[in-house]
Amino acid sequence: MTASAPPQVHFRTCNLCEAMCGVRIEVADGRITSIKGDDADPFSRGHICPKAVALRDLHEDPDRLRHPMKRTASGWERVSWEDAFSDITRRLHALQQEHGPHTVGAYLGNPNVHNLGAMMFGPGLLRALRSRNRFSATSVDQLPHQLVAHFMFGHQLLVPIPDIDRTRYMLMLGANPLASNGSLMTTPDVRARLRSLQERGGKVVVIDPRRTETAGIADQHVFVRPGTDALALFSLLHVVLEGNAHRMGRLAAFVDGLDTVVPLVRDFPPERTAPHTGIAPEVLRGIARDFLAAEGAVCYGRVGVSTQPFGSLCQWLINVLNIVTGNLDREGGALFTQPAFDLIGGPRALGVSPGSHGRWKSRVRGLPESSGELPVAVLAEEILTPGDGRIRALITVAGNPVLSTPNGTQLDTALSQLDLMVSVDPYLNETTRHAHYILPPASLLERGHYDLVFHVLAVRNTARYSPPVFAPAPDSRQDWEILLELQHRLETLRHGRTARATLQYQALKRLGPERLLDLGLRMGPYGSRFHPLKKDGLSLAKLRASPHGIDLGPLKSSLPGRLRHRSKRIQLAPELLVADVARLRAAFPDDAAPRDGELLLIGRRHLRDNNSWMHNVPGLVKGRPRCTLMVHPDDASRLGLADGVDATIRSRVGEVTVPVAITADVMPGVVSLPHGYGHQRSGIRLQVASAHAGVSINDLTDEQALDAVSGNAAFSATPVRVRPAEPPAPPSPSGSATPAA
Ligand code: SF4
Repeated sequence: MTASAPPQVHFRTCNLCEAMCGVRIEVADGRITSIKGDDADPFSRGHICPKAVALRDLHEDPDRLRHPMKRTASGWERVSWEDAFSDITRRLHALQQEHGPHTVGAYLGNPNVHNLGAMMFGPGLLRALRSRNRFSATSVDQLPHQLVAHFMFGHQLLVPIPDIDRTRYMLMLGANPLASNGSLMTTPDVRARLRSLQERGGKVVVIDPRRTETAGIADQHVFVRPGTDALALFSLLHVVLEGNAHRMGRLAAFVDGLDTVVPLVRDFPPERTAPHTGIAPEVLRGIARDFLAAEGAVCYGRVGVSTQPFGSLCQWLINVLNIVTGNLDREGGALFTQPAFDLIGGPRALGVSPGSHGRWKSRVRGLPESSGELPVAVLAEEILTPGDGRIRALITVAGNPVLSTPNGTQLDTALSQLDLMVSVDPYLNETTRHAHYILPPASLLERGHYDLVFHVLAVRNTARYSPPVFAPAPDSRQDWEILLELQHRLETLRHGRTARATLQYQALKRLGPERLLDLGLRMGPYGSRFHPLKKDGLSLAKLRASPHGIDLGPLKSSLPGRLRHRSKRIQLAPELLVADVARLRAAFPDDAAPRDGELLLIGRRHLRDNNSWMHNVPGLVKGRPRCTLMVHPDDASRLGLADGVDATIRSRVGEVTVPVAITADVMPGVVSLPHGYGHQRSGIRLQVASAHAGVSINDLTDEQALDAVSGNAAFSATPVRVRPAEPPAPPSPSGSATPAA
């Protein structure tokens, strides 16, 4: 009998969500036998969530595509990489020759930010396309954060991060870190960190239309009517700035615009906003008092206040609250990170642009670009509306916008009308089923990993590199190789084969993401460039030699030096945001009639299902169905809804039917559906997800509902009508049964 070889142990960062947990993976005979938390990781300290096992399941998933696929009249056919690259780039080039560069659109999904290669090589392909029709998941998520950071601090990634490990008072709006593990606040084991906050005498307060998992462990939870958070924030500021008593301290020396903000907040006493927000004035006054009194307080707002009609105002007011109370750039408040690979202050070629706004507008609705992208809510109309500049071809990279963007039904229709669609994606899903070609990259465990973005957004400065667990499968391509190949071939078709372009392409191919990463680390704040006499400056080799990662310390005060405005001053009152206050006032006039009977839809996220692609992992969808409509008992009884029984929800754009879950965890007048479901569409190859189809919340959300400043989708506060579903039709006399839903 032959003894089997001992398992190999790999240490890695889980990149399935923003939390960057360290994992310990055991592999025996080429298969993963165990995934556990890495106790020696200085950041995550052994924590993992139930999703970590999906690293194995996604790698082994029989539905994951392993070869380029072409859609033909008789179905999907395997093709060679060469044939795929050659035909795709020839057709893209021909379309751009005939209709101009903007006829090709591009959509980048959220997983790109978790992918070192895609982050390094995606921009090159976008430059080669020369199209203004670029879209990404940013405009259905965190665009208001980025735009506000660009306006106030001079760089779209200068997002203040809550100092959760030292704060004494944490006020959260529209955030549920117990489900997300921190978002734009990378925080592995957030539950333990919040518990420590409470144990050191601090307080956690949650303002949210739903009693979320985080609200469940908070010291105080306050319901707020969806879409009115900007009013609540203005009222908090009203109390904080009563008598012009700002407490900016040292920040006052480099803040401009307080004189503009003070008169604005006077208009919003808590008594005036209470009828709209549903928050009693004394409750808001109490929160403001506690916030002021705490020795280190921070306000943090996430997706619930970002994806709503006043998303940019909310993110602006959150920053203003932290600034005027002296809690920005202060231990226990909100601070900026100093990551090892500095996308903000490092060399331009390796960084992210500081951001932009309004350099061009979308063709149909005239919405402004932000940081080179248009709001994805206009993608369908840009395909469907005839005329010069219509999008005729689309490249999607790791995205499923049919399920993740507003009015997914409309986009579903639009995608079916493209002349050419190419998807760089491992799955045949609700979006990629419309593609003419699918180019699947190697598995996520077959590539090296470093979190370029999430180290910028983490609650502690650390650095960790993960080498591949498995060698790439034969004939597979990494994401970056696919993107680089498309870029090079498109540029060659446009300019001819020049020696310079060939050399550049070969150099990039040789460098790959890892060598570029090494360069960025060496040129970063901890790298050898700043320590020319020290051999131990940070480099990729040093990270490779530290498989559990390196701790670079807690967040530190960095202002005004870290600001990216030339003036090195914080802009407290950016013009576009100040101007948007008039829209807020108009939307919530003093004499507004009570909106009895109105139901507002909000989304929700579960710890086990981050995005739609997690639904093909058996371990993450097992148990009681999670795609249910949460309804308050008062509303259920008024509408005749019963727990566990189907209800039909109707919005301006669509209708879905889903089981009801009656619960006092949502406030009266609010209903909640999770996102990422809706796997009932035909032609997808997601066996597990199809068996747990649910319905898509984005068949109800409205592509016309936007945050007016940023163009971010306003998913929250979608007005809906809910009624008991019609009973299913009885079986036909011939005995053929209607398939069960
Ligand atoms: S919290 Fe996020 S990073 Fe950590 S194990 Fe879960 S999915 Fe992975």
